Amino acid sequence: MLDKPEQNSSYQEKGKEMSVASDIETFDRRPRKIKIKLDSDGFPRAVAFFDVDKTLAECGFIHGEAFKKLFAEIYPDQDPDKLTEQYLNGLHLGTTFRVFHRMIGIARDGRKEWEDPEKYLEWFLGHEKEVDKEGDDHDLAAALSIRHSQMGAEMVKNMDPQILEQTKIKPVFHLVKIYQRMGIPMCVMTANDEPFAKAVCKLLGLGDSFIALACQKDFVGQGKEGAIEYLIQRLEEKGVPIPRKLIVVGDSLNGDISSGAKFVQKHPEYSVNGVLVSENDVEKTKYRIEKDPNLKNIPVEILKPSAIGQGSLARYRRDEETKPRF
Ligand SMILES: [Mg+2]
Repeated sequence: MLDKPEQNSSYQEKGKEMSVASDIETFDRRPRKIKIKLDSDGFPRAVAFFDVDKTLAECGFIHGEAFKKLFAEIYPDQDPDKLTEQYLNGLHLGTTFRVFHRMIGIARDGRKEWEDPEKYLEWFLGHEKEVDKEGDDHDLAAALSIRHSQMGAEMVKNMDPQILEQTKIKPVFHLVKIYQRMGIPMCVMTANDEPFAKAVCKLLGLGDSFIALACQKDFVGQGKEGAIEYLIQRLEEKGVPIPRKLIVVGDSLNGDISSGAKFVQKHPEYSVNGVLVSENDVEKTKYRIEKDPNLKNIPVEILKPSAIGQGSLARYRRDEETKPRF
C-alpha cells in the first residue's frame, strides 16, 4: 500500500516548495492550502503525526460528560461519577474499542481488576482480535463508542469556540508552528470516532496546519500504526513525496509512540522519532522509555507542558537536553 502513487494535480510545485489542500474542515468551508518545503533530495525533512486528546488539547471534560450521560442510561445501577473517573483514567489505550471494552467490563461484568488500566493492557495481550476487530464484545464497544462520539460532537458544535481555545496545550501548538515553518507535512491521528474527531479538529482550527485526519474507522483491527499507514497513503494520493523520517507526537507511550515503533517494524525502511507529551516526572519517564523493549532504537523526546508554561520551547529543550535530532 505504500508504493509510489499516481500523482494527481491537487498541488502546484514551486521551486522547493509545494502546497496541498487540507482535508480538515474549516468554518468558512474553504479548504486551506498547506505549504510543504522540499529538501534538495525532493523530499520534506520529515512527516509528523499528532494525537489529539491530551496532546493538542484537553478534551476530557467533553468526553467525560458525554460518557457519564451514556453510561448512566445503560448501566443505571452503577455510580456514574466513579465510572467516569475510571473512564478518564484509561483514554490512552490506543483504540476507542479498548477504552469502551474496558469500561463495559467494569460496569457490566464487574471486572474490578480492570479499574487499573495497566491491568487491562496486560489482559489485552492475546485478546487483540476480540477487542479491536470482531465479535459481540467488539461490536458493543464500537456501538457505544459511536454513540458517545455523536454525543460529544453535539456538545462541541454548540460550544463557544473560546472554550475550546482554552483547552489547547500551548507548547504543543508551538511545536506545530515550528514544524510548519520547517515545511514539515503534518497529520492528525486519533482513536476517537469520526463525528467527534471532525468536530474537534474544526473547532481547534487544525485545518490551518494539518493536511489529513485518521480517526478510528480508518484503522480498525490495528493500533495507530494503522493510522500512520492510512495517512501516508492519503498524503501520497495528494502527491506529497514521503521521506523516510517520521515523527509521532502523543501523550501515550503505548497508544502513540509504540505505534510508531510498530510501524517501523513493519516498514523497516522508515525511522521514527517520538515526542511524548507528559506531565509525569521527566526522569522517571526517561527511565520508563529506556526500559521499554518496544521503544528500542526510537529516540523519544519528552515535553512537559507545565514545565514549559508560557516560556520558550527552545529554552526548555536546551535545559532538558531534549533537542530534536533532525
Ligand atoms: Mg491522547
